[in-house]
Order: sequence, then C-alpha cells, then structure tokens
Amino acid sequence: MSSLNQRYGQEVIKIEYIDVIDKIYVPHCARGPKRCEECKKAAEEEKICLIRVYLEAGNIARPMSDFVVDGKKVLCEFDVFKIFNDEVEANDYAEKNNINIIFSD
Ligand SMILES: [Zn+2]
Repeated sequence: MSSLNQRYGQEVIKIEYIDVIDKIYVPHCARGPKRCEECKKAAEEEKICLIRVYLEAGNIARPMSDFVVDGKKVLCEFDVFKIFNDEVEANDYAEKNNINIIFSD
C-alpha cells in the first residue's frame, strides 16, 4: 500500500482500486467461453497484464476474478489496462511505475 500513498502524495484518500501486474486469462467479452469462440481461445492462455482491481463494486459490469490483496484472497472486479509481451517487459514497467507484481513463478 505504500506505493499508493506515494502516488497520491500526502492526501488521505479512500482507496477504491489498486493497480497490479498479474497473470490472468484476459476475458474477450461478457458472453464467456461457452457462448463465444474468441472467449474460448482467450481462456486457454494466461497473459501478463496490468490490471486495475476495484476494491468496491462499481455501477459498470466488469469481469471478476480472485486477487490477493493485503494477503487476503478477494473476489474483485477488474479492468485490463495493458498486456505485456513477456516478464521482462512486465518487470521493467513495474519498476518504473511502482506497481506490484502479484503472480509468482
Ligand atoms: Zn467473447
């Protein structure tokens, strides 16, 4: 959480989302793999992504997944902001932008 405090300076704000880098199956659309061929393809390969994890449910329908936040596994809505080509690119981005990488292997 220290990275968030840095980003917003001294201002005390309610944390509604966090940006992390994780390996996930990037959803293609809301129809899902049972009804959409593109989703089916997307569900076969995990990608390294910059993800915004929303800690509070919003009004927009977003995909949901389990994320580890503060050591706890929570089901959260998320948006994919960026897909990295490889771990090197992800590590580089994480360092430059002070983003936590939460996948491990
Ligand atoms: Zn789809």
